[in-house]
Amino acid sequence: MGIVNMENIVKRYGSHLALDYVDLKITEGEILGLLGPNGAGKTTLIHALAGTIKIDSGDIRVFNKEQKANLLDIKREIGLVTQEISVFTDLTAQENLEFFGGIYGLKGKELKKRVEETLEFVGLIDHASKLPDKFSGGMKRRLNIACALVHEPKFLIMDEPTVGIDPQSRNHILDAIRELNRRGTTILYTTHYMEEIQNLASRVVIMDQGHIITQGTIQELVEKIHHEEKIKLQVAEPDDELLEKLRKLDGVKQVSKTGKEIQIISQAGAGTLDRALTVAKEFGGIHSVTADKPTLEDVFLTLTGKQLRDGGNEK
Ligand code: ATP
Repeated sequence: MGIVNMENIVKRYGSHLALDYVDLKITEGEILGLLGPNGAGKTTLIHALAGTIKIDSGDIRVFNKEQKANLLDIKREIGLVTQEISVFTDLTAQENLEFFGGIYGLKGKELKKRVEETLEFVGLIDHASKLPDKFSGGMKRRLNIACALVHEPKFLIMDEPTVGIDPQSRNHILDAIRELNRRGTTILYTTHYMEEIQNLASRVVIMDQGHIITQGTIQELVEKIHHEEKIKLQVAEPDDELLEKLRKLDGVKQVSKTGKEIQIISQAGAGTLDRALTVAKEFGGIHSVTADKPTLEDVFLTLTGKQLRDGGNEK
C-alpha cells in the first residue's frame, strides 16, 4: 500500500527551482534510500513531505490524507530526524524525550514507558540523566533520532543521520533502523554513504537538480547500466590533460579521479581498455589496471556526473 504520494511538487527559493515537478510514491514497509549530490533537493523534498516547509504547488498525500488539510494528524504518524542535531542542550537526554513525547500527546505512565523504551533502543539508557553537551557526536546523533521515535511513528524520515560519527555509533544506528523496519516502520533515508544504501535500502531514488532522475531496486538500477563497464587505472601522474584525452575516446561516458586512481565508465565492448592504456602510457607508468562490472555508485556517477561522497565536480 502506498503511504506517501507526492505529485507535481514545485518549490522555489527566489528564482531557484529546488523541486521541479517531483513525483514520489513510498510503499508501506519499505526502506527507501534517497541519494543525490549536494544541492539536489533531498532536504527540501523531505521537509515538504513532513510539512515543515510550504511548497509552491503540487499535492501531497500521506496515509491517504491530504497533507494540507490534515497536517497535525499526519505529523503524529511521522518521525523526522533532521540533518542538524535539534535537541535541547539544557535538558537531560530523558527530559528531551519527555518534551518531544509531550508534544505528541503522550503523558503519565505511557510517556514514562516510551521514554525508557526509546532510550534503551538507542543505547542511551545509562546516560538518561546527562546533558547532551557531555555526549560524543555519535551519542548526540542517537539522541536526535530518539526524539523522533519516542511517539512511535509509523513512518520515519531520516536526513543524513550518520554524518560525522564513529563507526560504532553508525553501526548502532544502522542496526536500529533495520530493527524498526522489521517491526513495521516505513523509512525514508538520505545519506552520502553509498554502502549504507547498499546495506539498508529496499529501493533507491536518485535526485539531481530538483528532479528524480531514476528509481528502482539496486538490482534494477545496476541493470540499467549493465551495458557499461568500469575501468580503474592507477597511474603515476593522473593530470588533467590525461583525463581530457580519456574523455575524448569513443565509447567513454565518464572519467573521474580519486588520488592516483582514474575511473572510466564506458560502453561495454567498445575496446576502451586497450585505447585507454595506450593513452595512459604516453603520460608515464601505469601501476595497475582493473575492469569491473558497474555498481550502484557507478549508476550514480553515470546519471549525475558527480561523485556521491563529496558532491563535487571531479568529472
Ligand atoms: P545536501 O546533500 O547538501 O544536504 P540537498 O540535496 O539536501 O543537499 P537541498 O538542501 O534541498 O539539497 O537544497 C536544494 C537547493 O535549494 C540548493 O541549491 C540550495 O542551495 C537551495 N536552498 C535550500 N534551502 C534554501 C533556502 N532556505 N533558501 C534559499 N535556497 C535554499
